[in-house]
Amino acid sequence: MKETTQILREKGLKVTPQRIAVYNMLRSTTQHPNAETIYKTLEPANPTMSLATVYKTLDYFKQLGLVQELNVGEPSSRYDAVMKCHPHTVCTVCGCVRDLDMEELTELHKKLAQQLDFEVECEQLILYGKCAGCRGN
Ligand SMILES: [Zn+2]
Ligand SMILES: [Zn+2]
Repeated sequence: MKETTQILREKGLKVTPQRIAVYNMLRSTTQHPNAETIYKTLEPANPTMSLATVYKTLDYFKQLGLVQELNVGEPSSRYDAVMKCHPHTVCTVCGCVRDLDMEELTELHKKLAQQLDFEVECEQLILYGKCAGCRGN
C-alpha cells in the first residue's frame, strides 16, 4: 500500500498531519464514517482539529477522487476510501453500513447490457435490512 503522504502529494495537496490522519482513518476502516464520527475519533489525538477542518478536508478529498461520498438516507453523508463503485448494505436498526462484494452484479451488468443495449459502468445499490447482530443472533 502506498504511503498516505505520497498519495496526498501526488494529488497536489499540501500534506498536513490532520489530512494524513483523516485519510489514514478512512483507509483503515470499513465503517463508512460520517464527518462527525471521523472528528470524534481523531480529536483526542489531534486536539487542534475542528469539525470544520474535517469537513473541508473531506471536501478536498472528494474533489480529488480520494474518497467517495455515500448517502444512505441519513442527514449526514458517509465517506468511503474505496473508490471502485460497490454496493452497500445498510441496517435499518443500528445503521451500520457495510461493503457488499457481489460477483453476481457483474453478471447482472452483462445481462442488462444485452437486454437494454446499455453499457453499465457503475451502480449505486443499497440494500436495506437487518444485520446479523440486530436479528438477535
Ligand atoms: Zn444492525
Ligand atoms: Zn463502501
